[in-house]
Amino acid sequence: MRTSIVPTSVGKTKITDPLFGAYVQMVAHQVIPYQWEAINDRIPDAEKAYCIENFRVAAGLQKGVHRGAIFQDTDLYKWLEAVAFCIAYGESEEFRPIADEVIDLIAQAQEPDGYLNTYFTIECPDKKWTNLTEGHELYGCGHLIEAAVAYYQATGTRKLLDVACKFADLVDRTFGAEDGKCHGYPGHQEIELALVKLYRVTGEKRYLSLANYFIRQRGSKPNYLLEEMAGRKGNNVFPEFAEYDDKYAQIHCHPVDQTTAVGHAVRAVYMYSAMADLAMEYEDADLQKACETLYHNIVDKRMYLTGGIGSSGKLERFTTDYDLPNDRMYCESCASVGLMMFSQRMASLTGNAGYYDTVERALCNTVLAGISKDADRYFYVNPLEVWPDNCLPSTSMSHVKPVRQKWFACACCPPTLPEPWHPWASTSTPRATRRCM
Ligand SMILES: [Zn+2]
Repeated sequence: MRTSIVPTSVGKTKITDPLFGAYVQMVAHQVIPYQWEAINDRIPDAEKAYCIENFRVAAGLQKGVHRGAIFQDTDLYKWLEAVAFCIAYGESEEFRPIADEVIDLIAQAQEPDGYLNTYFTIECPDKKWTNLTEGHELYGCGHLIEAAVAYYQATGTRKLLDVACKFADLVDRTFGAEDGKCHGYPGHQEIELALVKLYRVTGEKRYLSLANYFIRQRGSKPNYLLEEMAGRKGNNVFPEFAEYDDKYAQIHCHPVDQTTAVGHAVRAVYMYSAMADLAMEYEDADLQKACETLYHNIVDKRMYLTGGIGSSGKLERFTTDYDLPNDRMYCESCASVGLMMFSQRMASLTGNAGYYDTVERALCNTVLAGISKDADRYFYVNPLEVWPDNCLPSTSMSHVKPVRQKWFACACCPPTLPEPWHPWASTSTPRATRRCM
Protein backbone atom coordinates (compact mmCIF):
# COMPACT_ATOMS: atom_id res chain seq x y z
CA MET A 1 0.00 0.00 0.00
CA ARG A 2 1.27 3.43 -0.91
CA THR A 3 2.62 5.56 1.93
CA SER A 4 0.96 8.91 1.43
CA ILE A 5 1.29 12.31 3.05
CA VAL A 6 -2.24 13.60 3.53
CA PRO A 7 -2.66 17.39 3.76
CA THR A 8 -4.44 18.72 6.79
CA SER A 9 -8.18 19.11 6.43
CA VAL A 10 -9.71 22.54 6.04
CA GLY A 11 -10.04 24.33 9.36
CA LYS A 12 -8.20 21.68 11.39
CA THR A 13 -4.85 23.48 11.90
CA LYS A 14 -3.82 26.61 13.77
CA ILE A 15 -0.57 28.38 12.96
CA THR A 16 1.10 30.07 15.90
CA ASP A 17 4.53 30.57 14.37
CA PRO A 18 5.44 34.29 14.70
CA LEU A 19 6.23 34.66 10.99
CA PHE A 20 3.53 32.59 9.33
CA GLY A 21 0.96 33.20 12.03
CA ALA A 22 1.34 36.91 11.43
CA TYR A 23 0.79 36.43 7.70
CA VAL A 24 -2.36 34.41 8.30
CA GLN A 25 -3.70 37.23 10.47
CA MET A 26 -2.61 39.83 7.92
CA VAL A 27 -4.48 38.04 5.15
CA ALA A 28 -7.67 37.95 7.21
CA HIS A 29 -7.60 41.47 8.58
CA GLN A 30 -5.74 43.51 5.96
CA VAL A 31 -5.50 41.69 2.64
CA ILE A 32 -9.14 40.62 2.35
CA PRO A 33 -10.49 44.14 3.08
CA TYR A 34 -7.89 45.79 0.79
CA GLN A 35 -8.55 43.47 -2.11
CA TRP A 36 -12.31 43.89 -1.76
CA GLU A 37 -11.75 47.61 -2.27
CA ALA A 38 -9.43 46.87 -5.22
CA ILE A 39 -11.88 44.69 -7.13
CA ASN A 40 -14.52 47.37 -6.54
CA ASP A 41 -12.15 50.01 -7.97
CA ARG A 42 -12.02 52.05 -4.79
CA ILE A 43 -8.22 52.22 -4.32
CA PRO A 44 -7.02 55.73 -5.24
CA ASP A 45 -4.35 55.84 -7.96
CA ALA A 46 -4.39 52.06 -8.43
CA GLU A 47 -4.92 50.30 -11.75
CA LYS A 48 -8.61 49.51 -12.21
CA ALA A 49 -9.95 45.97 -11.93
CA TYR A 50 -13.53 46.55 -13.22
CA CYS A 51 -14.21 43.13 -11.77
CA ILE A 52 -17.41 43.67 -9.78
CA GLU A 53 -18.63 46.15 -12.37
CA ASN A 54 -18.33 43.51 -15.11
CA PHE A 55 -20.44 41.10 -13.05
CA ARG A 56 -23.07 43.79 -12.50
CA VAL A 57 -23.25 44.47 -16.24
CA ALA A 58 -23.42 40.74 -17.09
CA ALA A 59 -26.16 40.30 -14.46
CA GLY A 60 -28.21 43.08 -16.07
CA LEU A 61 -28.01 45.34 -13.03
CA GLN A 62 -26.34 48.16 -14.91
CA LYS A 63 -25.61 49.15 -18.48
CA GLY A 64 -22.08 49.11 -19.80
CA VAL A 65 -19.35 47.26 -21.61
CA HIS A 66 -16.83 44.72 -20.36
CA ARG A 67 -13.61 46.33 -19.20
CA GLY A 68 -10.29 44.86 -18.16
CA ALA A 69 -8.65 41.58 -19.07
CA ILE A 70 -10.60 38.79 -20.71
CA PHE A 71 -10.04 36.72 -17.55
CA GLN A 72 -10.94 39.52 -15.10
CA ASP A 73 -13.62 37.43 -13.37
CA THR A 74 -10.93 35.39 -11.67
CA ASP A 75 -10.08 38.31 -9.36
CA LEU A 76 -13.39 37.76 -7.61
CA TYR A 77 -13.14 33.97 -7.55
CA LYS A 78 -9.67 34.10 -5.98
CA TRP A 79 -10.84 36.69 -3.45
CA LEU A 80 -13.74 34.44 -2.47
CA GLU A 81 -11.44 31.45 -2.12
CA ALA A 82 -9.19 33.42 0.22
CA VAL A 83 -12.23 34.57 2.23
CA ALA A 84 -13.29 30.93 2.51
CA PHE A 85 -9.88 29.89 3.83
CA CYS A 86 -10.03 32.67 6.41
CA ILE A 87 -13.54 31.73 7.53
CA ALA A 88 -12.44 28.11 7.86
CA TYR A 89 -9.61 29.37 10.04
CA GLY A 90 -12.07 31.20 12.28
CA GLU A 91 -11.38 34.67 10.91
CA SER A 92 -13.07 37.13 8.54
CA GLU A 93 -16.63 36.26 9.61
CA GLU A 94 -17.46 39.93 9.06
CA PHE A 95 -16.87 39.35 5.35
CA ARG A 96 -19.31 36.46 5.14
CA PRO A 97 -22.39 38.65 4.43
CA ILE A 98 -20.40 40.47 1.75
CA ALA A 99 -19.28 37.16 0.27
CA ASP A 100 -22.83 35.80 0.32
CA GLU A 101 -24.07 38.92 -1.44
CA VAL A 102 -21.44 38.76 -4.15
CA ILE A 103 -22.18 35.05 -4.63
CA ASP A 104 -25.77 36.11 -5.38
CA LEU A 105 -24.34 38.51 -7.98
CA ILE A 106 -22.29 35.70 -9.58
CA ALA A 107 -25.43 33.55 -9.74
CA GLN A 108 -27.31 36.40 -11.42
CA ALA A 109 -24.55 36.71 -14.03
CA GLN A 110 -24.76 32.99 -14.85
CA GLU A 111 -26.68 32.16 -18.01
CA PRO A 112 -29.57 29.66 -17.86
CA ASP A 113 -27.51 26.83 -19.35
CA GLY A 114 -24.77 27.32 -16.75
CA TYR A 115 -22.36 29.42 -18.83
CA LEU A 116 -20.51 32.02 -16.77
CA ASN A 117 -17.97 34.45 -18.18
CA THR A 118 -18.66 38.16 -18.12
CA TYR A 119 -16.52 39.00 -21.17
CA PHE A 120 -18.29 36.66 -23.56
CA THR A 121 -21.74 37.28 -22.04
CA ILE A 122 -21.39 41.06 -22.42
CA GLU A 123 -19.31 41.45 -25.57
CA CYS A 124 -19.69 38.45 -27.84
CA PRO A 125 -22.16 35.78 -26.72
CA ASP A 126 -22.02 34.24 -30.21
CA LYS A 127 -18.29 33.54 -29.83
CA LYS A 128 -18.33 31.24 -26.80
CA TRP A 129 -15.81 28.38 -26.97
CA THR A 130 -14.45 29.63 -30.33
CA ASN A 131 -11.11 30.84 -28.96
CA LEU A 132 -9.95 28.30 -26.41
CA THR A 133 -6.36 29.40 -26.97
CA GLU A 134 -6.93 32.89 -25.59
CA GLY A 135 -10.50 33.00 -24.23
CA HIS A 136 -9.79 31.72 -20.71
CA GLU A 137 -13.39 30.50 -20.29
CA LEU A 138 -12.23 27.13 -18.95
CA TYR A 139 -9.54 28.81 -16.84
CA GLY A 140 -12.20 31.05 -15.29
CA CYS A 141 -14.43 28.05 -14.67
CA GLY A 142 -11.53 26.44 -12.83
CA HIS A 143 -11.06 29.34 -10.45
CA LEU A 144 -14.83 29.48 -9.89
CA ILE A 145 -14.81 25.80 -8.95
CA GLU A 146 -11.87 26.26 -6.56
CA ALA A 147 -13.65 29.16 -4.83
CA ALA A 148 -16.89 27.19 -4.64
CA VAL A 149 -15.25 24.12 -3.14
CA ALA A 150 -13.41 26.23 -0.56
CA TYR A 151 -16.53 28.21 0.35
CA TYR A 152 -18.59 25.06 0.71
CA GLN A 153 -15.95 23.43 2.89
CA ALA A 154 -15.68 26.57 5.04
CA THR A 155 -19.36 27.38 5.45
CA GLY A 156 -21.40 24.35 4.44
CA THR A 157 -23.48 26.56 2.15
CA ARG A 158 -24.06 25.26 -1.36
CA LYS A 159 -25.05 28.28 -3.44
CA LEU A 160 -21.65 28.91 -5.04
CA LEU A 161 -21.03 25.17 -5.31
CA ASP A 162 -24.30 24.80 -7.20
CA VAL A 163 -23.28 27.62 -9.56
CA ALA A 164 -19.93 25.92 -10.14
CA CYS A 165 -21.48 22.50 -10.70
CA LYS A 166 -23.94 23.98 -13.20
CA PHE A 167 -21.06 25.49 -15.18
CA ALA A 168 -18.97 22.31 -14.87
CA ASP A 169 -21.95 20.29 -16.12
CA LEU A 170 -22.14 22.55 -19.18
CA VAL A 171 -18.42 22.06 -19.78
CA ASP A 172 -18.92 18.30 -19.42
CA ARG A 173 -21.74 18.35 -21.99
CA THR A 174 -19.64 20.47 -24.36
CA PHE A 175 -16.18 18.85 -24.22
CA GLY A 176 -15.04 15.25 -24.43
CA ALA A 177 -13.82 12.46 -26.65
CA GLU A 178 -17.34 11.38 -27.63
CA ASP A 179 -18.75 12.12 -31.09
CA GLY A 180 -20.67 15.37 -31.18
CA LYS A 181 -18.59 17.00 -28.46
CA CYS A 182 -15.85 19.58 -28.92
CA HIS A 183 -12.46 17.84 -28.85
CA GLY A 184 -10.70 20.94 -27.53
CA TYR A 185 -9.13 21.65 -24.16
CA PRO A 186 -8.04 24.72 -22.19
CA GLY A 187 -5.58 27.22 -23.62
CA HIS A 188 -4.65 28.03 -20.03
CA GLN A 189 -4.71 25.03 -17.73
CA GLU A 190 -6.40 25.37 -14.34
CA ILE A 191 -9.80 23.70 -14.64
CA GLU A 192 -8.18 20.26 -14.56
CA LEU A 193 -6.97 20.51 -10.94
CA ALA A 194 -10.22 22.26 -10.00
CA LEU A 195 -12.32 19.42 -11.43
CA VAL A 196 -10.38 16.97 -9.26
CA LYS A 197 -11.29 19.09 -6.24
CA LEU A 198 -14.93 19.16 -7.37
CA TYR A 199 -14.90 15.38 -7.72
CA ARG A 200 -13.41 14.97 -4.26
CA VAL A 201 -16.04 17.16 -2.62
CA THR A 202 -19.08 15.94 -4.57
CA GLY A 203 -18.13 12.33 -5.33
CA GLU A 204 -19.24 12.88 -8.97
CA LYS A 205 -16.89 10.70 -11.02
CA ARG A 206 -17.64 12.53 -14.29
CA TYR A 207 -15.77 15.60 -13.01
CA LEU A 208 -12.68 13.45 -12.53
CA SER A 209 -13.19 11.90 -15.97
CA LEU A 210 -13.44 15.36 -17.53
CA ALA A 211 -10.18 16.42 -15.88
CA ASN A 212 -8.59 13.25 -17.20
CA TYR A 213 -9.93 13.95 -20.71
CA PHE A 214 -8.50 17.48 -20.72
CA ILE A 215 -5.03 16.19 -19.75
CA ARG A 216 -5.08 13.18 -22.10
CA GLN A 217 -6.34 15.18 -25.07
CA ARG A 218 -3.54 17.75 -24.83
CA GLY A 219 -0.89 17.17 -27.46
CA SER A 220 -3.16 15.00 -29.66
CA LYS A 221 -2.86 15.36 -33.42
CA PRO A 222 -4.24 17.26 -35.23
CA ASN A 223 -3.36 19.92 -32.69
CA TYR A 224 -6.60 21.63 -31.70
CA LEU A 225 -5.17 24.93 -30.47
CA LEU A 226 -2.69 25.34 -33.32
CA GLU A 227 -5.47 24.77 -35.84
CA GLU A 228 -7.64 27.26 -34.00
CA MET A 229 -4.85 29.84 -34.08
CA ALA A 230 -4.24 29.25 -37.78
CA GLY A 231 -7.92 29.80 -38.46
CA ARG A 232 -7.82 33.25 -36.86
CA LYS A 233 -5.07 34.36 -39.25
CA GLY A 234 -3.32 36.58 -36.71
CA ASN A 235 -6.50 38.23 -35.42
CA ASN A 236 -5.47 37.58 -31.82
CA VAL A 237 -6.69 38.92 -28.46
CA PHE A 238 -3.12 39.03 -27.17
CA PRO A 239 -0.66 40.67 -29.63
CA GLU A 240 2.24 38.69 -28.17
CA PHE A 241 0.55 35.49 -29.36
CA ALA A 242 1.97 36.25 -32.78
CA GLU A 243 4.88 34.22 -31.39
CA TYR A 244 2.66 31.42 -30.05
CA ASP A 245 4.08 27.94 -30.42
CA ASP A 246 3.06 24.48 -29.29
CA LYS A 247 5.44 24.47 -26.31
CA TYR A 248 3.99 27.73 -24.92
CA ALA A 249 0.84 25.93 -23.71
CA GLN A 250 2.47 22.50 -23.28
CA ILE A 251 0.68 21.01 -26.32
CA HIS A 252 3.79 19.80 -28.19
CA CYS A 253 3.13 16.22 -27.07
CA HIS A 254 0.94 14.36 -24.61
CA PRO A 255 1.63 15.44 -21.01
CA VAL A 256 2.52 11.89 -20.01
CA ASP A 257 5.37 12.01 -22.55
CA GLN A 258 6.73 15.41 -21.50
CA THR A 259 10.17 15.42 -19.89
CA THR A 260 11.17 19.09 -19.70
CA ALA A 261 9.31 22.07 -18.24
CA VAL A 262 8.55 24.32 -21.20
CA GLY A 263 6.36 27.25 -22.08
CA HIS A 264 4.33 29.58 -19.91
CA ALA A 265 5.37 28.79 -16.34
CA VAL A 266 1.97 29.22 -14.65
CA ARG A 267 0.21 27.10 -17.26
CA ALA A 268 2.90 24.45 -16.78
CA VAL A 269 2.76 24.05 -13.02
CA TYR A 270 -1.05 24.15 -12.95
CA MET A 271 -1.01 21.29 -15.46
CA TYR A 272 1.63 19.34 -13.56
CA SER A 273 -0.46 19.74 -10.38
CA ALA A 274 -3.45 18.21 -12.14
CA MET A 275 -1.25 15.41 -13.52
CA ALA A 276 -0.12 14.59 -9.98
CA ASP A 277 -3.74 14.58 -8.81
CA LEU A 278 -4.75 12.26 -11.64
CA ALA A 279 -1.75 10.00 -11.06
CA MET A 280 -3.00 9.59 -7.50
CA GLU A 281 -6.66 9.08 -8.38
CA TYR A 282 -6.01 6.58 -11.19
CA GLU A 283 -2.87 5.09 -9.60
CA ASP A 284 -1.17 5.78 -12.93
CA ALA A 285 2.53 4.95 -12.69
CA ASP A 286 3.37 6.45 -16.09
CA LEU A 287 1.80 9.77 -15.19
CA GLN A 288 3.57 9.73 -11.82
CA LYS A 289 6.89 9.09 -13.59
CA ALA A 290 6.25 12.05 -15.91
CA CYS A 291 5.51 14.25 -12.88
CA GLU A 292 8.73 13.18 -11.18
CA THR A 293 10.76 13.85 -14.34
CA LEU A 294 9.20 17.28 -14.86
CA TYR A 295 9.64 18.16 -11.19
CA HIS A 296 13.35 17.35 -11.30
CA ASN A 297 13.85 19.22 -14.55
CA ILE A 298 12.42 22.32 -12.84
CA VAL A 299 14.08 22.01 -9.46
CA ASP A 300 17.47 20.77 -10.68
CA LYS A 301 17.88 22.96 -13.77
CA ARG A 302 15.19 25.63 -14.27
CA MET A 303 14.43 27.10 -10.84
CA TYR A 304 16.02 30.03 -9.02
CA LEU A 305 17.28 29.63 -5.48
CA THR A 306 14.25 31.74 -4.49
CA GLY A 307 11.81 29.18 -5.86
CA GLY A 308 11.12 31.49 -8.80
CA ILE A 309 10.40 29.87 -12.17
CA GLY A 310 9.95 31.23 -15.68
CA SER A 311 13.24 32.86 -16.58
CA SER A 312 12.05 34.73 -19.67
CA GLY A 313 10.31 38.09 -19.47
CA LYS A 314 9.14 37.38 -22.99
CA LEU A 315 5.97 35.26 -22.86
CA GLU A 316 6.51 34.56 -19.15
CA ARG A 317 8.07 31.20 -19.89
CA PHE A 318 10.68 28.58 -19.20
CA THR A 319 13.66 28.70 -21.54
CA THR A 320 16.53 26.18 -21.39
CA ASP A 321 18.44 24.43 -18.63
CA TYR A 322 20.53 26.76 -16.46
CA ASP A 323 19.35 29.91 -18.27
CA LEU A 324 18.70 31.87 -15.08
CA PRO A 325 19.46 35.58 -15.48
CA ASN A 326 19.14 37.64 -12.30
CA ASP A 327 17.59 40.77 -13.76
CA ARG A 328 15.47 40.07 -16.86
CA MET A 329 13.59 37.06 -15.59
CA TYR A 330 9.85 36.88 -15.07
CA CYS A 331 9.40 34.59 -12.05
CA GLU A 332 5.73 35.42 -11.72
CA SER A 333 4.37 35.26 -8.18
CA CYS A 334 1.62 32.88 -9.36
CA ALA A 335 4.20 30.56 -10.87
CA SER A 336 5.82 30.07 -7.47
CA VAL A 337 2.40 29.49 -5.90
CA GLY A 338 1.80 26.93 -8.63
CA LEU A 339 5.15 25.31 -7.91
CA MET A 340 4.09 24.99 -4.27
CA MET A 341 0.86 23.35 -5.39
CA PHE A 342 2.72 20.88 -7.62
CA SER A 343 5.32 20.07 -4.95
CA GLN A 344 2.70 19.55 -2.26
CA ARG A 345 0.83 17.14 -4.52
CA MET A 346 4.05 15.26 -5.27
CA ALA A 347 4.62 14.80 -1.55
CA SER A 348 1.08 13.43 -1.21
CA LEU A 349 1.52 11.22 -4.24
CA THR A 350 4.86 9.70 -3.31
CA GLY A 351 5.04 9.96 0.47
CA ASN A 352 8.37 11.76 0.07
CA ALA A 353 8.49 14.77 2.41
CA GLY A 354 11.50 16.11 0.51
CA TYR A 355 9.09 17.78 -1.91
CA TYR A 356 8.20 20.14 0.92
CA ASP A 357 11.68 21.66 0.64
CA THR A 358 10.47 23.24 -2.60
CA VAL A 359 7.17 24.30 -1.02
CA GLU A 360 9.15 26.01 1.72
CA ARG A 361 11.66 27.55 -0.70
CA ALA A 362 8.95 29.17 -2.81
CA LEU A 363 6.81 30.25 0.15
CA CYS A 364 9.65 31.80 2.14
CA ASN A 365 11.16 33.69 -0.79
CA THR A 366 9.21 34.60 -3.91
CA VAL A 367 5.73 34.25 -2.42
CA LEU A 368 6.63 36.03 0.80
CA ALA A 369 8.27 38.86 -1.13
CA GLY A 370 5.29 39.19 -3.46
CA ILE A 371 3.15 40.94 -0.87
CA SER A 372 4.09 43.86 1.38
CA LYS A 373 3.90 43.72 5.17
CA ASP A 374 1.18 46.38 4.98
CA ALA A 375 -0.81 44.10 2.65
CA ASP A 376 -1.39 46.83 0.10
CA ARG A 377 1.47 46.44 -2.39
CA TYR A 378 2.31 43.53 -4.68
CA PHE A 379 4.97 42.16 -7.00
CA TYR A 380 3.92 40.37 -10.16
CA VAL A 381 7.49 39.83 -11.41
CA ASN A 382 10.25 38.80 -8.98
CA PRO A 383 13.82 39.39 -10.19
CA LEU A 384 16.86 38.78 -8.01
CA GLU A 385 18.51 41.99 -9.19
CA VAL A 386 16.87 45.31 -10.07
CA TRP A 387 18.32 48.36 -11.78
CA PRO A 388 15.40 50.73 -11.24
CA ASP A 389 16.43 53.33 -13.79
CA ASN A 390 16.46 50.70 -16.51
CA CYS A 391 12.94 49.38 -15.89
CA LEU A 392 11.59 51.47 -18.72
CA PRO A 393 9.43 50.78 -21.78
CA SER A 394 11.32 49.24 -24.68
CA THR A 395 14.02 47.77 -22.47
CA SER A 396 14.59 44.11 -21.69
CA MET A 397 13.39 44.88 -18.16
CA SER A 398 10.23 46.81 -18.99
CA HIS A 399 8.18 44.10 -17.26
CA VAL A 400 10.02 44.63 -13.93
CA LYS A 401 8.59 46.99 -11.32
CA PRO A 402 11.26 48.29 -8.92
CA VAL A 403 8.69 48.66 -6.13
CA ARG A 404 5.51 46.79 -5.28
CA GLN A 405 2.34 48.12 -6.90
CA LYS A 406 -1.10 48.88 -5.46
CA TRP A 407 -2.82 46.62 -8.00
CA PHE A 408 -2.43 45.27 -11.52
CA ALA A 409 -5.02 45.74 -14.25
CA CYS A 410 -4.06 42.27 -15.47
CA ALA A 411 -6.00 40.08 -13.05
CA CYS A 412 -3.61 37.58 -11.67
CA CYS A 413 -1.00 37.72 -8.91
CA PRO A 414 -2.37 39.95 -6.09
CA PRO A 415 -5.47 37.83 -5.48
CA THR A 416 -3.41 34.63 -5.73
CA LEU A 417 -0.96 35.67 -3.03
CA PRO A 418 -3.34 35.50 0.00
CA GLU A 419 -3.96 31.80 -0.54
CA PRO A 420 -0.71 29.93 0.18
CA TRP A 421 -0.54 31.02 3.82
CA HIS A 422 -3.20 28.55 4.79
CA PRO A 423 -1.98 24.98 5.15
CA TRP A 424 -4.92 23.48 3.30
CA ALA A 425 -4.90 26.04 0.48
CA SER A 426 -2.75 24.39 -2.15
CA THR A 427 -4.62 21.18 -2.55
CA SER A 428 -7.82 19.47 -1.51
CA THR A 429 -8.09 16.47 0.72
CA PRO A 430 -7.33 13.43 -1.42
CA ARG A 431 -9.49 10.46 -1.90
CA ALA A 432 -8.39 8.54 1.17
CA THR A 433 -10.01 10.98 3.56
CA ARG A 434 -12.52 12.64 1.24
CA ARG A 435 -15.61 14.04 2.92
CA CYS A 436 -18.84 12.46 1.82
CA MET A 437 -21.86 14.65 1.20
ZN1 LIG B 1 0.01 35.91 -11.64
